[in-house]
Amino acid sequence: MLDKGATLDYRSSWLRALAAFRGENQTFRARTGPDTRMIRTEDELRREIIEVGRWIHRQGFVAAFDGNISARLDNYRILSTPTTISKGMMQPDDLVICDYQGKKISGRRNVTSEIQMHLLIYRRRPDVHGVVHAHPPTATGYAAAGLSLNKALISEVVLSLGCIPLARYGTPGTPELTEALESLVGSHDAILMANHGVVTHGPDVMTAYFRMETVEHFAKISLVSELLGRQVLLSETDVDKLLTARRAYFGGSAPALERTDVCPITNGVRETPRQVSVSREDLEAMVERAVRTLKPRM
Ligand SMILES: [Zn+2]
Repeated sequence: MLDKGATLDYRSSWLRALAAFRGENQTFRARTGPDTRMIRTEDELRREIIEVGRWIHRQGFVAAFDGNISARLDNYRILSTPTTISKGMMQPDDLVICDYQGKKISGRRNVTSEIQMHLLIYRRRPDVHGVVHAHPPTATGYAAAGLSLNKALISEVVLSLGCIPLARYGTPGTPELTEALESLVGSHDAILMANHGVVTHGPDVMTAYFRMETVEHFAKISLVSELLGRQVLLSETDVDKLLTARRAYFGGSAPALERTDVCPITNGVRETPRQVSVSREDLEAMVERAVRTLKPRM
């Protein structure tokens, strides 16, 4: 059974950001009140991971034994999916608990070989409590083509993720992969991994899963716009407005984002305001200068 509290938690912060963008902030705040983060028991986290496993399998984000999902239990333990199991057919007691070095503490199955990728994210991001790794075909296609999903094409993707960078290739299950992710984890909540797949993370497992859905959905939209042979990117001004709404309404819990020239890529246009204010002295000086320039020609 899906933990409705987790879904609502995600939706409330998401809706707040959208309401902000639409100028509905006051009424929305009055309706929802302050944020309340749910504390989940180990049993609830197990059920959430099983549910997310079914979803990524049903949606074709993984094949065979692909993918892994984890949740932070406390400062010493991580709850994770085991190795060599279909994520669509797991039972709660299939999951394993390991420490922050990846050593198994309990569970009858073995720890996934990709646990170090999860541990890197938990170590670097104290705000993260859930990680999902999968191979959704369209987004992974971009990763296999050496392309990131960093264009400002869709307002809600800029609002939620900013952009989705591409980490260089690293052999799965080795330090090469964690080294490739290291510089991106601090400022991104969704990352493409070259020739491999996608990793997403968030304040809980459900949010990490929703971010995976967003990445794959955005990859499909990007692909369609490329097939149509035309992409209209948002302007610098449009992106600035979205990022302001994001900061204002996610507040201290704003998902990480490092805005750079290539994240996200805009159409490069910054609109100039229609009205400018200028002092009377400056205006007189400008008119005088213009008259002086024109006089010899008259
Ligand atoms: Zn993988």
